[in-house]
Amino acid sequence: MYYVGVDIGGKNVKMGIVDDFGKILSSMTYKTLPERGYDAILLEIIANINNLCEEAGLYMDDISGIGIGVPGICNSRVGLVMSCSNLNWKGVELANDIKNLTNKPCKVCNDANCAALGEQRFGSGRNYKNLVFITLGTGIGSGIIIDGKLFEGLGCAGAEAGHMGICVDGLQCDCGNKGCWESYASSSAFVRQTKEAVQKNPDSILAEVCKDGISGKSAFIAAKQGDKTAKKLIEKYIDYVTYGLIGLTNILHPQAFIVGGGIANEGAPLILPVKKKLNEYIDNNGFYPYVDVVGAKLGNNAGFLGAAALVM
Ligand SMILES: [Zn+2]
Repeated sequence: MYYVGVDIGGKNVKMGIVDDFGKILSSMTYKTLPERGYDAILLEIIANINNLCEEAGLYMDDISGIGIGVPGICNSRVGLVMSCSNLNWKGVELANDIKNLTNKPCKVCNDANCAALGEQRFGSGRNYKNLVFITLGTGIGSGIIIDGKLFEGLGCAGAEAGHMGICVDGLQCDCGNKGCWESYASSSAFVRQTKEAVQKNPDSILAEVCKDGISGKSAFIAAKQGDKTAKKLIEKYIDYVTYGLIGLTNILHPQAFIVGGGIANEGAPLILPVKKKLNEYIDNNGFYPYVDVVGAKLGNNAGFLGAAALVM
């Protein structure tokens, strides 16, 4: 059987045709251009499903269902996008509209939840039925899978680990609250922390590395050259990431955390110390068993692969 997965982002739409094993038969990426409005985006998706079918040597009749990930709050039970500020959508009946235009079953879900499902079915989470997927980006996206199924909370508005509070009267977050985990442990928080470290330590190797621009990679580059400022900065960031995982472990004790996002591409220098610290905590408290921490595997494809898995 074949399925279409669509990952609508604020900047790009990624979509593909996938089989039951997560094999991608055809895929494409194009600009979302949200300013053109809902109808235009919808019609282009339909046109591109046809294009992808043609490319894969399939007919529309071969497609069993369409799954869509959206970067906002979605009620996946009724296929409604409640609100999505990136696309300027509010209360759109996306699943119904796609169903009416294609005559195919359609499901809609939050994009981080889709990515979690994608990693669990076809990526780093394949050996686990209970996991939490975390993506360290502009904010922290997350998806929770319990017994192989997405856990979304009441009205599908839950599983937002990035807005878990870790500090009363902490840093101001876009959600209106203060001290949210993502204000400390997202990759944009890490870039902010890097900037602050450069200002305080203008003679460091880190400051030298950052002369041509600061990114999430800067500190890792400087640390490789033995820079103490960068090493301290990374250590603190690892604490912030681990702190959130400890909170989630106390609530859910999953088998694994799957960590994605640009900064997770640093791989071992980030993932291994986080895993070590988390399991030291678990060990000290006798909270067996250990929890695995692994890097995400599917990159930008996780979203549309997981979206396709919604209708499998
Ligand atoms: Zn928040």
